[in-house]
Amino acid sequence: AKKFVLDKHFNGLPKRTDIKLVEETLPQIQNGEFLTEAVYLSVDPYIRAYQPLTKLGRVMMCLQIAKVIESNSEKFPIGTYVVGDYGWRTHTISCEKSFGEKVMGWKLPPFGTLPLSVGLGMLGLTGNTAYFGLLDICQPKANETVVVSGAAGAVGSHVGQIAKIKGCKVIGIAGSDDKGKWLTNELGFDHFINYKEPNILEKLKQFAPNKVDCYFDNVGGELSSNVMRCMNKFGRISVCGAITAYNSNPADLPKATLVQGMMAIQQLKMEGFIVTTFFPRWMEGIEQNLKWLQEGKLKYRETITDGFENTFQAFVDMLQGKNFGKALVKV
Ligand code: NDP
Repeated sequence: AKKFVLDKHFNGLPKRTDIKLVEETLPQIQNGEFLTEAVYLSVDPYIRAYQPLTKLGRVMMCLQIAKVIESNSEKFPIGTYVVGDYGWRTHTISCEKSFGEKVMGWKLPPFGTLPLSVGLGMLGLTGNTAYFGLLDICQPKANETVVVSGAAGAVGSHVGQIAKIKGCKVIGIAGSDDKGKWLTNELGFDHFINYKEPNILEKLKQFAPNKVDCYFDNVGGELSSNVMRCMNKFGRISVCGAITAYNSNPADLPKATLVQGMMAIQQLKMEGFIVTTFFPRWMEGIEQNLKWLQEGKLKYRETITDGFENTFQAFVDMLQGKNFGKALVKV
């Protein structure tokens, strides 16, 4: 078995020498335990965000889709597919009692003809992040204007499509015109803004003449300050992540001076969330997203890198915006 462990804390963009590939021999499984083999690993921004809290020597965190290959558990027979919070490792031993309790995980429900990989994206953690983070926190209503940043990523591309299902006008913000074409031509977004080009504020005002009612924020930073300046009275902001800051030293980050003024004047509501809070309702999100996918109301793309050894490169590529939709590794 193999695993990647954290060897040095990241400074800026992660370097390959910050992590180490380690071989390990796993013990025999005991009663109630099962052994899984990784099929797909996720490479997510949260791995970078949580890394300062990760102890050196710990396996790199991530969810994976894994197949049970040995079992002493009736609940998890050989051949069962699970999603588990196992990290960047090829093999893992789980105990049926702690799985889904102490270790985050769930059995993969049947997806019909959809590929297994969607269990980490549209029908996994990122899909539920979009579903609960938009619907519960922003509570978008028909004809409202929704802005989503990180719009061509796994969460963002899904958020915009749910907002369209709810009858909203959707403006996506991402880092390349190719991504913009995908959003507007294929996913049904109404407008696209490339945040790497100038005049973002002017474009927002042009595309949202009635101002912005909901902002789903994946990135934070100056871009989000600009969106905040366009918010409507009683607007709602769902703070999902802050990827502009993940590779920065906290001391170097600009202060968010615009937030309080706009929040008071426009009577805004801004709420952060961690999707695992919604674990008691987890299957609600997966079932609804599955229904929308089967009805053709949701589309998706995945950026799949082949080979466990290439996991780190897939991670850095994702941080640099090389992914469309969910970034994954096929082990
Ligand atoms: P994505 O698939 O969106 O991949 C990350 C994307 O971020 C890249 O493709 C890149 O696209 C964009 N990006 C990178 N650097 C910057 C930057 N400086 N400014 C703006 N955009 C940048 O990842 P996910 O969908 O998995 O995650 C999206 C967000 O959701 C993250 O902030 C993540 O932490 C958060 N998240 C939060 C959860 C929660 O429970 N709150 C759960 C899961 C995710 P581009 O080409 O557009 O730059």
